[in-house]
Amino acid sequence: MHCPFCHNPDSRVVDTRIADDGASIRRRRECTACKKRFTTLETSSFQVVKRSGVVEPFSRNKVVAGVLRACQGRPVTDDQLAVLAQQVEEQLRSTGVSNVSSEEVGKAILPFLRELDEIAYLRFASVYRAFNSLEDFEAAIATLRGRAQEQAKPKRTRSKKRAREDAPTLLDD
Ligand SMILES: [Zn+2]
Repeated sequence: MHCPFCHNPDSRVVDTRIADDGASIRRRRECTACKKRFTTLETSSFQVVKRSGVVEPFSRNKVVAGVLRACQGRPVTDDQLAVLAQQVEEQLRSTGVSNVSSEEVGKAILPFLRELDEIAYLRFASVYRAFNSLEDFEAAIATLRGRAQEQAKPKRTRSKKRAREDAPTLLDD
């Protein structure tokens, strides 16, 4: 990057700091020509595209905010939600893409929330997947029961049945 003062293309790094809990790196640079110092910030580009088309940086806080209502009155701690948000971010980043839709964020939340609290999961899924009948709830509960039984049983081949996951709404603002 060019020096912001004299536009000289060369600078040397005088200090490097990890910022934002490892999410970014801040470098203090000195221009080799005019000797003035400036700071650069490096982050891995990772953005969420909302349904409105607005693009914004991925935010763990928004993930937490998105599931908070579903967790109301449930024995879920702030720490657990922070871990969930981190898991969701790691999961999404591991796909290697730099943009995800808010739908994909919601979809990534579901399995982690299911592990955390089944009631919160059902609430979140009912909004996110737009449940509109009792049958939708029954199907989701049947899936949860099935999982519980599978986990209780000694190891057998697991059916990889995944419920349809679409029609998000929760994370869209
Ligand atoms: Zn300069």
